[in-house]
Amino acid sequence: MVKVGVLALQGDFLEHTQILREVEGVEPVAVKRIDDLKGVDALIIPGGESTTIGLLLSSRGLSTKVAELAEKGLPIMGTCAGAILLATKVVDRVVGETNQFTLKLMNIEVVRNIFGRQRESFIATVRVENIGLVKGAFIRAPGIKSAWPPARVTGYINHPYIGEIGVAAEQNNMLALTFHPEITGEKGVYKYFLSFIKR
Ligand code: GLN
Repeated sequence: MVKVGVLALQGDFLEHTQILREVEGVEPVAVKRIDDLKGVDALIIPGGESTTIGLLLSSRGLSTKVAELAEKGLPIMGTCAGAILLATKVVDRVVGETNQFTLKLMNIEVVRNIFGRQRESFIATVRVENIGLVKGAFIRAPGIKSAWPPARVTGYINHPYIGEIGVAAEQNNMLALTFHPEITGEKGVYKYFLSFIKR
């Protein structure tokens, strides 16, 4: 059994937990405090509100521990708000520089709410390197504007208003997706992410 932690501070952690239960050999663990990270083999940072999750991460001292584990090679996947929290640089499409708290673990620049507001949310199929075609729900999603080594963009969509924009990125033991694979039940994403454990 591999233990996969799901950060359960805010957002749609339940959906990740449910899909993980369907993957053989996986035991999902809700992570709310530092002690919950003991013995986890991987960690998922879910979608939600990145400012709220960021505040809770830093106020509970979890951020330092997560950063320490990431340095040691713990596989981490961030989806939507989770991808924002992994990014080194974050701007908002409308207000620009947000100065919000992020873990700064991946060399990516993300633009929050790049596709617009809730009503501009959509489902699209993305070809993600190493995974294949993935159907993702983009809900007030960010876009990955740039990545620099050792990070690289591994998936793009061509949006009618925005044009070509990154929606997936990888950096060593970390995977950032700006959409929700848990909502569309994309188990292939989890299987690929879990392969990081044995690397
Ligand atoms: N717009 C949200 C944020 O900036 C992310 C939305 C999501 O995770 N679905 O934090």
